[in-house]
Amino acid sequence: MATSQDHDAWQDTLPPAELLARGVGPIATEEVPCCPVCGGRDKDRLAVGFDYELLTCSNPWRMVRCRDCGHVWLDPRPAIDTLGIIYPKEYYAYNYEQQINRIAVWGKRQLDRRKLRGILRLLGRRPRSFLDIGCGQGRYLRTMARGGLSRDRIFGLELDEPIVRVLRAEGFRAFACRVEQCDTIPPGEIDLATMFHVIEHVDDPRAVAAKVASWLSPGGVFAVETPNIDSLDARRFADTYWGGYHIPRHWNLFTPSTLARLLDDCGLEVLDLRFQPGHSFWMYSLHHKLRYGKRPHPRLARRFDPFRSLPPLVAFTAFDTLRAKLGCRTSAMLMLARKPE
Ligand SMILES: [Zn+2]
Repeated sequence: MATSQDHDAWQDTLPPAELLARGVGPIATEEVPCCPVCGGRDKDRLAVGFDYELLTCSNPWRMVRCRDCGHVWLDPRPAIDTLGIIYPKEYYAYNYEQQINRIAVWGKRQLDRRKLRGILRLLGRRPRSFLDIGCGQGRYLRTMARGGLSRDRIFGLELDEPIVRVLRAEGFRAFACRVEQCDTIPPGEIDLATMFHVIEHVDDPRAVAAKVASWLSPGGVFAVETPNIDSLDARRFADTYWGGYHIPRHWNLFTPSTLARLLDDCGLEVLDLRFQPGHSFWMYSLHHKLRYGKRPHPRLARRFDPFRSLPPLVAFTAFDTLRAKLGCRTSAMLMLARKPE
């Protein structure tokens, strides 16, 4: 169990030299004493790490694991008024396609299309309405429109207002608001809701899942993709460097069973669980270890930056695709759940 002594000891962890040299300071934090999935208070420390990816702040951050249900969360986490610091303007979720080369973009699009096709197959009928939460520049909205769904039946939520204005001009029903505060989507309206790599960023995943469940029509399906902490790379780099921690921007990390529990608690029936390639988590894990480890190798580390280096990206994608086919649990899971008829 995490004690106050433990609290003091981990807070003394020194940042890597490179982070100190940046001159960035610590940011304000808030404690998260209870497990966001089960409400339990007993927890063990799992990891202590830093913002290895964007170097936005010097705080040491702690991941804790719930003793009751196994859920993992960031405690303490950044205070809400620091979000502008930990999500700088160039945060790649918005401009992925500008940063990486064309072959990688093409490959990612193929994987994304395959993912959506798989979801639609499982749905067993053409959805009459679609919602993508965290829709970015609207890739999936456009794919659904090309598939024949009317744009006024396609919804998107995205926090970036300029992007939302573009999507609205194209005829989509896009809104710049958080799920919990969104009251523009009528209850029971949505046949298919997707949320790819978003739930790990939110402060209250239970409230988000409950809201999505309320939007689903009877028989409607919710497809949620998120890191899987019960995976080979998560275990291998558990102490600090695992790329899936994405410290301090991932606030909740699930296993298949904690995610299933959350969806079940919101009245949804889990239909299916698939494992996707977790190539960027493998690459960031190696990148962080090489760049910040005891004997840093910054030049070698750059070869594992998923935005700069194609060969390891292809290799880890192939490795995880094969592992998923063989029945292994990769570090990216896609769970599908249905609202009962
Ligand atoms: Zn718990």
